[in-house]
Amino acid sequence: MIPAPFDYHAPTTVDEALALLRRLTESGKDVKVLGGGQSLLAVLRLRMAAPEVLVDLNKIPELRGVREEGDELVIGAMTTHDTMTRDPLVRRHALLLALAEETVADPQVRHRGTFGGALVHADPASDVPAPTLALGATMVIAGAEGRRAVAAEDFFEDLFTTVVGEDELLVEVRLPKYTGWGAAYEKFNRVSHSWAMVGVAAAVRVEGGTIAEARVGLANMASVPVRARAVEAALLGQPATADAIRQAASAAAEGTTPPSDANADADYRRHLAQVLTRRAVLTAAGS
Ligand SMILES: Cc1cc2nc3c(=O)[nH]c(=O)nc-3n(C[C@H](O)[C@H](O)[C@H](O)COP(=O)(O)OP(=O)(O)OC[C@H]3O[C@@H](n4cnc5c(N)ncnc54)[C@H](O)[C@@H]3O)c2cc1C
Repeated sequence: MIPAPFDYHAPTTVDEALALLRRLTESGKDVKVLGGGQSLLAVLRLRMAAPEVLVDLNKIPELRGVREEGDELVIGAMTTHDTMTRDPLVRRHALLLALAEETVADPQVRHRGTFGGALVHADPASDVPAPTLALGATMVIAGAEGRRAVAAEDFFEDLFTTVVGEDELLVEVRLPKYTGWGAAYEKFNRVSHSWAMVGVAAAVRVEGGTIAEARVGLANMASVPVRARAVEAALLGQPATADAIRQAASAAAEGTTPPSDANADADYRRHLAQVLTRRAVLTAAGS
């Protein structure tokens, strides 16, 4: 289908975009921000949304790219999935994100779709939010009044809903560096390139054969991404062996509220979470 008609703006700076968003929303316009368009364009074509105005972020260079700032890695919201898979800083300091991004869709989608767009879209089946949450990211949101930093665990409110307001932009994501950590993303789907029935993101630091730190995030086990905190706690101080990891992974579904749908019921998802957590942690721990 063809989208309903809309006005189109393509600002070239973040300040220009924010001023535009403020002016349009204050005048009562229904406005949508366009990132890579890989989710939004489908929504427009299906006429599930018909905004009066689109504000395209693709001409704003300051929203793209990855840089180091002291102990932090800073990722621009408009950095594409493809860049995330290849960027040397991401691979060195946040390998988990690169591995999860490799499983997003196909090369065409990865070249257009963006890291920030996937976070704001907040699809519970997306591969991007769970590793971002697991790594304890901070989201930087800009509005006409300035910038605010929101922890990843407070960012996702519900299915397709985040704390980003209609006149705000996600501008960048900040992460501590996980240099030297092992990482793995396990995704279970029926067809290659499709969405995760369940996804498990694991980052592990092993010291002398013992698990010193572990972070595990789950996709599609609730309406928002969740940390598998019971698994993380059970792994601490354990030997990085198959038996110890299997034992800890059995707690993967604790505290989750997985959906039942045409792909899988909730019980099957709980089972998948345990199996995929075991596999992800084993790989991340190099066991
Ligand atoms: C065929 C296909 C298969 C796919 N498979 C997968 C998959 O396997 N795994 C997966 O994780 N994803 C998958 N996706 C989704 C893909 O990852 C999208 O790129 C992503 O969901 C949205 O990113 P985007 O940059 O394209 O955002 P858009 O589609 O442009 O926008 C999505 C939403 O975010 C808002 N938005 C975007 N950027 C910003 C910003 N900086 N600040 C504020 N709001 C913003 C928009 O207003 C919109 O509401 C698939 C998409 C397609 C088309």
